[in-house]
Amino acid sequence: MPSDFSITIIGSNSALAAQGRFPTAQYISFKSKHFLIDCGEGTQFRMNDFKVPKAHIEKIFISHLHGDHFYGLIGLLTSYSLSNRIKPIEIYTPKGLREIIELQSMYSDAHFTYEIIYKETQALSNEVLFEDESICISSFPLKHRIPTTGFLFQEKVTERKLIKEKINSFDLSVDEIIQLKNQQNVVRNDGTILSVEEFTHPITKARSYAYCSDTAYFEEIIPIIKNVDLLYHETTFDKNLVALAQKTNHSTTLEAARIASLAEVKQLMIGHFSSRYKHSEMLMDECKTIFDNTIIAIEGETFYID
Ligand SMILES: [Zn+2]
Ligand SMILES: [Zn+2]
Repeated sequence: MPSDFSITIIGSNSALAAQGRFPTAQYISFKSKHFLIDCGEGTQFRMNDFKVPKAHIEKIFISHLHGDHFYGLIGLLTSYSLSNRIKPIEIYTPKGLREIIELQSMYSDAHFTYEIIYKETQALSNEVLFEDESICISSFPLKHRIPTTGFLFQEKVTERKLIKEKINSFDLSVDEIIQLKNQQNVVRNDGTILSVEEFTHPITKARSYAYCSDTAYFEEIIPIIKNVDLLYHETTFDKNLVALAQKTNHSTTLEAARIASLAEVKQLMIGHFSSRYKHSEMLMDECKTIFDNTIIAIEGETFYID
């Protein structure tokens, strides 16, 4: 069974849409929650093509205000109104986006049928953006030409799973089940002790996903993304274009791979490819010389975090 934590790639190119690729956007599904990260031009149409349930999205995270990361937003927000959306939407964004959207909707006489809640991010320090009992989503500064943040999605595992066979054989009551799941031993009236270790599976490792686009080589993110299951890191340029990467505050393949290696992540996913590259396999191969477990962010594909 596929896992309940997945990333669908909507767009994987850098600013200029080319080679059949679109600018950046990713759809994240975590249990019953649905998020969008960045919203480059054409995102809503690509979501239709890939059968992404876009009406379910409840939070949108915008990394920075370069057009290839948000020019699709006004279209998506307007389409939500045309389909009579009622559910509010939260947008986590650097300062400025609210004014942009309000100006666009004012001059185009667009009226939203739902509430848009803007939550301003800052690119100065790490910050928890949203947290509940199952997930913590935070932002952290990247190194780019304008204020830019990465995003970290961390699962929270607080409950232990019960060993099913024990429920019947010990005729566990609902209260006993809840107690064991919450990691408390049960003492029955006759003095029998039902221990957490004996009745539940060990706590599984919490899953995590880190998103880093756009950024120059920036070692300060390493402690934040340490050991994540999946790291998305931009590789706008191949290994030979170091000077251009430095000038534009982007990363080369080898720089992204070095970050993945130093942060000891499980897997590296690369994207935000310059339009000069027809095929991204060559970029992946360069990464693999430093970090073997590298994959390409292929548009339309869903990657599961187990
Ligand atoms: Zn970009
Ligand atoms: Zn940018």
